[in-house]
Amino acid sequence: MNRSIPSLARCALAFSLLVSACSGPRGTISARMDAGAVASAVEAKPGAAGLGDPLFPEAGNGGYDVQSYELVIALEKTDGPIDASTTIRAKSTQALSSFDLDLHALEVHSIEVDGKAAKYTREGDELVVTPAKPIASGAEFTTLVRYGGVPEGVLDPSFPIPIHLGWMAKNGEVYVVSEPTGAKSFFPCNDHPRDKALYTFRITVPKPLDVVANGKLAETIDGSEKRTFVYKPRDPIATYLVTIAIAPFETSDLAGPNGLPIRNYFSPQTKANARKGFERTDAIVQFLSETFGPYPFEVCGNILSSIELPGALETQTLPTYGAHAASEDVIAHELAHQWFGDSVSVENWQDIWLNEGFAEYASWMYSEATHGKDAEERKAKFEKLLRSNYGSIRSMGSRTPREGDDAARKEKGEPPPGSPSVKSLFGPNVYIRGALALHALRTEVGDESFLKLMRGWAAGRKNGNASVADFANHVEKSTSKAARALLEHWINDAEMPHVAAWDEALAKDKAERDAKKKAREEKRKSDEGGEKKDGG
Ligand SMILES: [Zn+2]
Repeated sequence: MNRSIPSLARCALAFSLLVSACSGPRGTISARMDAGAVASAVEAKPGAAGLGDPLFPEAGNGGYDVQSYELVIALEKTDGPIDASTTIRAKSTQALSSFDLDLHALEVHSIEVDGKAAKYTREGDELVVTPAKPIASGAEFTTLVRYGGVPEGVLDPSFPIPIHLGWMAKNGEVYVVSEPTGAKSFFPCNDHPRDKALYTFRITVPKPLDVVANGKLAETIDGSEKRTFVYKPRDPIATYLVTIAIAPFETSDLAGPNGLPIRNYFSPQTKANARKGFERTDAIVQFLSETFGPYPFEVCGNILSSIELPGALETQTLPTYGAHAASEDVIAHELAHQWFGDSVSVENWQDIWLNEGFAEYASWMYSEATHGKDAEERKAKFEKLLRSNYGSIRSMGSRTPREGDDAARKEKGEPPPGSPSVKSLFGPNVYIRGALALHALRTEVGDESFLKLMRGWAAGRKNGNASVADFANHVEKSTSKAARALLEHWINDAEMPHVAAWDEALAKDKAERDAKKKAREEKRKSDEGGEKKDGG
């Protein structure tokens, strides 16, 4: 995710945000059970309504692990209702009398579990499914949900001002940006990054609209007035990284490393200058692959939308950008997420530094390698970038609120990158201080060890989940206890550690600015004095 940090920092944090409240005891099981099911039914209990994420306790659901989703969606017009079904193959992790799916607003027509009609109730965004007979622990089971209606955005719990996530229809086009909890706006799911799964998409739209989704296009089925696009991405995807985009796209093809196909999709309503950064997609992917190891997926590209989305999102294999959110550095950030965030995903949302600090620092490394006409200029520009980001965190005073802080200070304060709150998940401490933390680590261990440990992390955790503590362990294992301790200061201390050289440089810059200001003021005074003398 890349949101405009300065504007985010400026936002007032006075909005009380609604985190979906749900739950209460579930009703008793009314399904009739056959004799064979009675034994397992004795143990069967409802699956939990959430996966236990510390920041979003209701996100996702307990009691099962999704293996795959098949999404079938048809629409007549982009801002109209969808007619949809989702087939979910899952494996139970306990004996289940009932289980939850996450689904926002859309109307459910029917649900079948293993081919038999199931009962269901809605409690907020929890869809509670009671199969005709309980599901044994460790059993594979298939749930088919038929549903439809006009998708409604999910209020973003992490953003300081009210914005909506998920399926967005505007300008005759559709885009999907779901981080963190918007996927449930268009399909019933286990909406948490810990439960990654495989996907098939079958999306039917009127001509001449195109559909783009994660992964490679497997098939296009041509009807007289409609077309069905089938996508089957190779690797598992976290729900918030699922994307479907619908528009009569214009495309441009590039070649990535090792024959990787790259296709960029542009809304025809976007202008040439907004598309410019995408011409460098091949060079960016090349740089990232050389730096962090092979690109993790089978296909690559970007989607430039016509909508002013809240920034850009690293939707898997195919990041999605707001109409004016695609500078070269932002593209480098989103593509770096393919390694850090998409392939290696968070265990819990509080681990978001593993996504955002890493993608941000990767984009700085890209600028370190490319911005400037020669090595000397590139080095100077990179130093300036580091120093100014360090200075901006210092001047924002974004640090953990402490005992004795007044209300204003508490409001201004932001937890360190290793343990963000709901509202600071996408704040400057996670991105900027988080990226500086990786730079501090790199400075401590040297370029060679740093790149080795980053590559080891991307390769070792490929298509998996990991926590901040896992990364700290990885650092210690690949380098030293001292390196781990240093990193932990940067990501866990209330106040960001000082870097003497930057403090000195910033003090010097400030002294120069002050001297210039003083000189200007003195000149103004003497000019005024002169005018008075002339006039008097
Ligand atoms: Zn990001």
